[in-house]
Amino acid sequence: METSRIPGFYNMTVDERRQLLASMDLIQDDDAAYLFAKQPLAVETADHMIENVIGTFPLPLGLGLNFLINGQDYVVPMAIEEPSVVASASHIAKIVRDAGGFTAESTGRVMTGQIQVIGCPDFAAARDAVLANKARLLKAADEAYPSLQKRGGGARDLDVRLLNEASDSSYNQMLVLHLYVDTRDAMGANMLNTMAESLAPVVEDLTAGKVYLRILSNYPENCLARARCVIPPEKLQTGNFSGEAVRDGVIHAYEFAASDPYRAVTHNKGIMNGIDPVVIASGNDWRAIEAGAHAHAARSGMYTSMSTWYTDEQGNLVGELELPMPVGTVGGSIRVHPMAKLAHKLLNVTLAAELAQVIVTVGLAQNLGALKALATEGIQKGHMALHSRSVAIAAGATGEMIDMISERLIEENDVRMGKAKELVADYQN
Ligand code: NDP
Repeated sequence: METSRIPGFYNMTVDERRQLLASMDLIQDDDAAYLFAKQPLAVETADHMIENVIGTFPLPLGLGLNFLINGQDYVVPMAIEEPSVVASASHIAKIVRDAGGFTAESTGRVMTGQIQVIGCPDFAAARDAVLANKARLLKAADEAYPSLQKRGGGARDLDVRLLNEASDSSYNQMLVLHLYVDTRDAMGANMLNTMAESLAPVVEDLTAGKVYLRILSNYPENCLARARCVIPPEKLQTGNFSGEAVRDGVIHAYEFAASDPYRAVTHNKGIMNGIDPVVIASGNDWRAIEAGAHAHAARSGMYTSMSTWYTDEQGNLVGELELPMPVGTVGGSIRVHPMAKLAHKLLNVTLAAELAQVIVTVGLAQNLGALKALATEGIQKGHMALHSRSVAIAAGATGEMIDMISERLIEENDVRMGKAKELVADYQN
């Protein structure tokens, strides 16, 4: 059985879904216990994770289905509060699956650390001194985190940038040393910070300046992941819209985002709708992923679309997405948060590079889901159908009332809290 394709999953009850996962051996008894627990993340554990803890803050966890990436099936855990995201990702993944699946790759796992040096008497000489001592500095960096080398990672290279060279202010003239480190399957922030801090005294010696910041850059240009899909137009046919019309609508929508930052922000938010939920579910640092992704989208000097959509010579729709993806399969909260551990089991991925590929693929699928809807019936129909349930709950509906009121809101084309409250009151009287 193809493990990522689970027909009818959408229509099952939550209990049926959990039982099915267990029967497919995708989760074991101890994982199921967390899924059934009232509070999977114990407050005692949470209290060790951050400060001033008063509780935990759960999010819905759903499964992105139908993902076929590089010939491999993936069940993708997604933690998100926004309706329609999981459904849309799974819908597009099914279309792409029928077209042969996604392909994905990554460029490597090299993160960047920065060391800021101020007040060098001669910045050019300071740069030369650092570069002349590259081997010594890389060795010192490795010695600060020896276990990483044992895992096949470690310091790979460094370079130097001089910022505001022509300035006459001592505040903004600076030398910045970039340290490049292969962090293997960890995101590597703590690793890089430890290494960068350890180099500070040597760098001060070499540059005759004073070291200020020593910290990871959240823009790792050497840790990119890419996803691609090629879809024959007939697979895009929807309602009264021909496949060609959908394809062309998607490309027009992309060109809008490519040319206009106001649209690009929303287009890219749609991509992050797919990416963040997997990053969160897998216990990774989504602020880091968000920051790096938007920096990458602005690398030309203009903020633009993260993805690219075009037709190939056969008239197929081709989509591509490349993003920095410094996620880990180890480290941080990944082995602490029980739901993150469960998410990694479901993903069945051990290499961080592979996880990065899965995440970028979900971003590409989500992007197409939004563009396809926008290019055809608009997103409101599908979105409001799902949103109406949240409105019903917020208005006080419980149990079977939720679906009844949600359906009435849609029938009457009036998905508002005021209307939902009226319906709840009617139902209760
Ligand atoms: P950790 O400090 O947890 O380091 C990774 C750990 O994973 C190490 O202890 C390492 O063990 C272990 N490990 C096990 N297997 C492997 C493997 N195959 N490859 C690599 N390491 C392995 O986490 P990170 O350094 O990844 O830092 C991530 C955390 O830092 C996140 O929580 C993030 O939020 C936070 N952070 C982020 C910042 C930012 O984004 N700017 C700044 C500061 C912190 P061993 O030691 O034995 O090698």
